[in-house]
Amino acid sequence: MTLQIFNTLTRRIEPFVPIQPPRVSLYTCGPTVWNYAHIGNFRTFLFEDLLRRWLGASGFDVFHIMNLTDVDDRIIKEAGAKQTDIDQLVRPYISAFYEDRDYLRILPAHCYPRATEFIAPMIRLVERLLANGTAYRGDDGSVYFAIGRFPAYGRLSQLDRRELKTGASERVSSDEYAKEDARDFVVWKAARPEDELVKAAWDAPFGRGRPGWHLECSAMALDLIGERLGTDVLDIHAGGVDLIFPHHEDEIAQSCAFTGQPDFAHFWMHGEFLNVRGTKMSKRFGNITTARDLQADGIDAGAIRLLMFGSHYRSRLDLTDESLWAAGEGSRRLGELGRRLREHRGPESAPFALAAGKMDKACTDRLDDDLDAPAAVAAVFAFVTEANRLLDHGDHPGTETLRSWERWTTEVFNVLPDLRTADADAAAVIEARLAERGAAKRRRDFVAADGIRDELAARGVVIEDTPSGTKWRLR
Ligand code: AMP
Ligand code: ZN
Repeated sequence: MTLQIFNTLTRRIEPFVPIQPPRVSLYTCGPTVWNYAHIGNFRTFLFEDLLRRWLGASGFDVFHIMNLTDVDDRIIKEAGAKQTDIDQLVRPYISAFYEDRDYLRILPAHCYPRATEFIAPMIRLVERLLANGTAYRGDDGSVYFAIGRFPAYGRLSQLDRRELKTGASERVSSDEYAKEDARDFVVWKAARPEDELVKAAWDAPFGRGRPGWHLECSAMALDLIGERLGTDVLDIHAGGVDLIFPHHEDEIAQSCAFTGQPDFAHFWMHGEFLNVRGTKMSKRFGNITTARDLQADGIDAGAIRLLMFGSHYRSRLDLTDESLWAAGEGSRRLGELGRRLREHRGPESAPFALAAGKMDKACTDRLDDDLDAPAAVAAVFAFVTEANRLLDHGDHPGTETLRSWERWTTEVFNVLPDLRTADADAAAVIEARLAERGAAKRRRDFVAADGIRDELAARGVVIEDTPSGTKWRLR
């Protein structure tokens, strides 16, 4: 089987075929950096991390863009309240986002475009929409997208006209009078004095103002994939389910009206919410936990990742102390087996090869089936049970078994306990791994050696090769 993905655009599971294999362009809507991202936001970013890792492990060459929304209503309001400008306001939150990302072992995207650095492409996009008649200037000086002139509008969200109307007016009620049709959405907002105060206004041929939120993603994605990949269609666009409408629907309308292509992305993927007692985790509901809260509580990132991957990305997940605790136990169990496997390493015994092969096949098949992480994780735990039994019987795991173990627990899921928070034998584990790395280097197996270095890095260990030998420290 090859990778199959549930495509929100068709509401079907479809075989994944990229536009220019092995290249895959992946655009994921990033955080609005007006505050710390919460663990609900990170559920979505972790689902995207698993997607990215699985695409990579499947042989694709992924180009991943994640934008940072650094100008929007919330940011402007917050900057005004703090008597600062938007750039000063967002800077510390951008750094905090990168720190949280590293704590949660999320692979960095290849670029993190900030909306305010892409104003020129946004202006070009609006100019073209005005020229081809899909956008118009309202009485209030803002520019609106004319939904009635874009027949494919609503294809992604599959909402009927009445629902579209409600959704649109909720977001932009104050601008209602200026529009030709209540469903039209703003692509460029005329500058107000409060925007000027916080430096959130730019000159444009169609009037001074600032980009609408949806416009930001369209312009950044098109500009970057055009420049880097020479295309104007994305392979995959992902985000949380709340972005389907209106955000992604509007991104499609603007982008396709600009490029003339029938699609903006071939695959649209949406992750379900992280809830707290049945309610979406959201600042608005006062029920948020940030990544740094969990870090301060000494929660291991391996446990958080295991918790998230224990549910399918298209199912809601309720965060409870019990589930977090259970995931911590699970992660420790994995760490413990990893230690035992290395201790008893020897010439591969047939039952071990069989058990590891079974885990490889099950994980591959399950992840290929629309990223069924919970089923794949279950296969890893089935291996844990079997491997512990084999070890008790005196069987030895060999290089192949250890390699598949590392592949699933580190390269793909990255759910082992952080060695910094692990028990006292952390140093012993690290020394043992470094000895293995040294041996791998001596037999010129650089793939294995690099694999060990990466595994340790992912678990918080920094390695330095010096003339007097290899040194390590905890990050
Ligand atoms: P924002 O910073 O509000 O722009 O959101 C960033 C990302 O987090 C988007 O992809 C949202 O869909 C996602 N998101 C927001 N709240 C949750 C939640 N409770 N569970 C999962 N994803 C969420
Ligand atoms: Zn977006």
